[in-house]
Amino acid sequence: MDALKDKRLFRQQCLIAGEWWDSASGARVAVTDPATQAVIGSVPDVSGAETRGAIEAASTAFASWRERTHAERAALLETWHDLMLEHVEDLARMLTLERGKPLAESRAEIRYGASFVKWFAEEARRIGGTTIPSPTRDRRIVVLKEPVGVSAIITPWNFPNAMITRKVAPALAAGCTVVVKPSEFTPFSALALGVLAERAGIPAGVINIVTGMPAEIGAELMANETVRKISFTGSTRVGALLMRGAADSIKRLSLELGGNAPFIVFDDADIDLAVEGAIASKFRNGGQTCVCANRILVQAGVYETFAEKLAARVSAMKIGPGTEPGVEIGPMINAAAIEKIERHVSDALAKGARVLSARPAMPGGGQYAAPVVLGGATTGMLLASEETFGPVAPLFRFETEAEAIAIANGTPFGLAAYFYTESLKRSWRVAEALEFGMVGLNTGAISTEVAPFGGVKQSGLGREGAQCGIEEYLEMKSFHIGGL
Ligand code: NAD
Repeated sequence: MDALKDKRLFRQQCLIAGEWWDSASGARVAVTDPATQAVIGSVPDVSGAETRGAIEAASTAFASWRERTHAERAALLETWHDLMLEHVEDLARMLTLERGKPLAESRAEIRYGASFVKWFAEEARRIGGTTIPSPTRDRRIVVLKEPVGVSAIITPWNFPNAMITRKVAPALAAGCTVVVKPSEFTPFSALALGVLAERAGIPAGVINIVTGMPAEIGAELMANETVRKISFTGSTRVGALLMRGAADSIKRLSLELGGNAPFIVFDDADIDLAVEGAIASKFRNGGQTCVCANRILVQAGVYETFAEKLAARVSAMKIGPGTEPGVEIGPMINAAAIEKIERHVSDALAKGARVLSARPAMPGGGQYAAPVVLGGATTGMLLASEETFGPVAPLFRFETEAEAIAIANGTPFGLAAYFYTESLKRSWRVAEALEFGMVGLNTGAISTEVAPFGGVKQSGLGREGAQCGIEEYLEMKSFHIGGL
């Protein structure tokens, strides 16, 4: 963190009620740079009782935050947004140090993260209600929108900035206050957002950030009746656990969970466009994104050409620390990630897949996984049914459109899907047949603050971003006025 221009952005304490705290026990969790495995700092390992303190702080702040006008809340969010952009270099560097992604990707994430703050600052002004035609002449009915209340925000390590702003910005815009629990692997990006929120003038207690190991913090967030909403991004396993834990106090839930995205290339596709789309969708963040292409389905007529072009691109990729210029793939987050990738590749090879790409030059040390294109993938392989979350591109050959759709939908997940075709009729047919929350046609890029983001089936509940994203933090109250 020595290279930061503004060293005060690097905080190693948690934020509760506008104060920076260590845990009473003194317990801390070390954070490492995945490129070197060197410890870059540590954060307090917060207890259940301390989490309760953060919830109480959010509850106290809620009383006055909800009373602010939408314009006042929007103005504070706008300032927070501007500060993020002002500090994009420092925030990106910090993000690369704890997550490992190339600096260019980290900068893009900070801008993407900030875009949600701007968007929801604008949406804050547009929270309206409705007037319902009354069934009788002496009554009127209106629907009011009110903030849900204290919201728990639990986020993963793969987008340490944007997954927080995508939730906190609509929560604050709606008038909710939050307790944020970032991933224990990437707490510094979250804490830096807390520093900037303070500087923006967002009042004490509106954003609280608790750090540390998840079990005790999660148990309190689930059980505490003051928490009215949990918004979670992460694995389906933990999402299900939170859903069960939230049941006793009937909390509102938003769940952005795992995916198993198909990426389908039809015979009539623009192959060069499809190769570039596959590179963007598959290898961004080293293949560690929820919307990553996990299964690349290629129609028989273009299979060889596509495979050859993709393999050539992948063989020439530059692997290394995210801070090094020109690096396309940084380190994986931890040893468990490497183990899963290796397990998927060896299972595929044992079941008949072939390596089509050359192994690019690999850096020494660090937690790196070589990017690889595998030919001859089949549905019985582990990488067909589980998210690999790494730079592995398995190619499945198919003959007919119906076969591709059956393979694509043959998963309990339904987050993102992509397909490439130049046919207008096929475009609509396939888009409507895919059982996914987001579909990209002739593009590998589907994430933007202006469109709903979220999944169906076991990929989650609710949508983030877009006009609907703020509804996740609003309750409807129907108000009946009689005797008129
Ligand atoms: P994870 O589920 O292990 O952890 C996510 C968060 O949950 C972390 O903050 C973690 O500390 C916390 N957590 C873990 N156990 C908990 C518990 N018992 N109680 C409360 N919190 C707990 O996921 P991850 O490895 O950090 O992230 C990768 C996963 O996230 C992948 O499956 C990926 O697809 C998914 N993801 C989904 C989206 C989306 O928008 N759908 C976006 C990014 C990542």
